[in-house]
Amino acid sequence: MSRYPRAVCVYCGSRAGENAGWSEAATALGAGLAGRGIDLVYGGGNVGLMRATADAAMTAGGRVIGVIPHDLEKREHGHRSVTELHVVESMHERKLLMAKLSDAFVSLPGGLGTLDETFEILTWRQLRFHDKPIVLADIAGYWQPLLDLLDAQVAAGFVDPAHLSLMTVARSVDDIFAALEGSADASAAGAAGN
Ligand code: AMP
Repeated sequence: MSRYPRAVCVYCGSRAGENAGWSEAATALGAGLAGRGIDLVYGGGNVGLMRATADAAMTAGGRVIGVIPHDLEKREHGHRSVTELHVVESMHERKLLMAKLSDAFVSLPGGLGTLDETFEILTWRQLRFHDKPIVLADIAGYWQPLLDLLDAQVAAGFVDPAHLSLMTVARSVDDIFAALEGSADASAAGAAGN
C-alpha cells in the first residue's frame, strides 16, 4: 500500500515570483505527485506557480483537481485542461472543499492568498478540526522571515511552541516527499487514537 497521502493540496502563488527556483520547485512537485500516483488538489488557476504545478502534474499523467470561485475564474483564468474543475460560489467554499478533498497540505512560495490558506489550515489543525499533515516548503529561504516571526511569537508568549510542530518545514522538493511519506499512516493512527 502507498505510504503517501492519496491527495495533496498545494497552496502557492498566483504569480511566479522573482526566483526561477520557485517555478522549478513547483514543476518538480507537480511531476513528483503524479509520478507517485498522488492526486493534486489546488486553487484551479492558470497563472503563476499554480499553473506550473498543475501543468507539470498533468504532463506527467497525474490527476489534478482545481477548485475556483466563480468570480475568480476569469481573473485567474480557470484552468480548463485539468482533470476536474470545481467552480464554487465563494472563497470560503473553495478553501473548505480543497481541505475536504485533500489528505495533506503543502505550501510553496506565494503571496497573501497563500499565507491565508496556510494559516487557515494550520489554525484548523491547532483547533483539532483535522489532523492532516501540513508542509511548509521553504524553497531558497522564501519563508525564513515568516519562520522568524513565528519564533518571535513563541518568545513573546502568544504561540504555543507545540503548535509549530503541527507544520513540517521542508527545504527542497525531496524534503517535501520525505515529510509526506508515511504521514498518511501517522495521521490515520492519530485519528484512530482520538
Ligand atoms: P497569492 O498567494 O496571493 O498569489 O494567491 C494564491 C491563491 O490564493 C490564489 O488562488 C488566490 O486566489 C488565493 N487568494 C488570494 N487572496 C486570498 C484571500 N484573501 N483568501 C483566500 N485565498 C486568497
